[in-house]
Amino acid sequence: MFVILLGPPGAGKGTQAKLLAEHLGVPAISTGNLFRQEVASGSELGRRVRSYIDAGQLVSDETTLSILSDRLSKSDAADGAVLDGFPRTVGQATALDRLLAARSRRVDRVLDVAVPENVLLERLTGRWTCPSCHASYHEINATPRRPGICDRCGSGLVQRVDDRAEAIQIRLRNYRERTRPLVDYYGQAGVLTEIDGDLDPKTVTRAMLKATDSAATV
Ligand code: ADP
Ligand code: ZN
Repeated sequence: MFVILLGPPGAGKGTQAKLLAEHLGVPAISTGNLFRQEVASGSELGRRVRSYIDAGQLVSDETTLSILSDRLSKSDAADGAVLDGFPRTVGQATALDRLLAARSRRVDRVLDVAVPENVLLERLTGRWTCPSCHASYHEINATPRRPGICDRCGSGLVQRVDDRAEAIQIRLRNYRERTRPLVDYYGQAGVLTEIDGDLDPKTVTRAMLKATDSAATV
């Protein structure tokens, strides 16, 4: 099953994508994480996209599609994936439809994770992430057991450059202007479910599983 997590930065897509993917037995694929891995590796692609990512700007559709389709062509994603942070533009969505259609697949369900903007800002400004396993923490709401250390893998936590106030505003604006139209796009396709993202993480996962179950039976 191919599931897309839609929703603004800070909605909790990364956390939920991992949990949902484990339940569904498919990989969680985050274009943001794929890009950050390229940046960390010092590759040519990483050098090209770094300034966009740090500033909170979207990477071009062409570059994004190429990294995504490479990842989707790996065998673990043959039967499905949970996509986090992709698609983010209508151009990316139509390209994804074509890509899946070529494999006789389609987008089975799109979960639109809704969170009020004041909550997003609060979550994003105190966020720390693990550069190795991508777990995320929060200064106030979700502190790690040992300060500055990832509970899951023991790596040192880092604060993302694009979690600075200025970049956050750009990411939220890009979301409203470029990504929000996908709600209509997938609504018209009849695959959209809105999920309340302002609840505790377990409740959110449960709502997502319910929404994907119904998709599997229709
Ligand atoms: P968030 O959802 O919290 O903004 P991500 O980790 O999903 O963060 O993405 C980080 C950055 O990677 C984005 O701000 C953007 O620069 C780039 N990026 C990720 N996915 C896409 C995409 N689908 N299209 C364009 N740029 C992307
Ligand atoms: Zn970790």
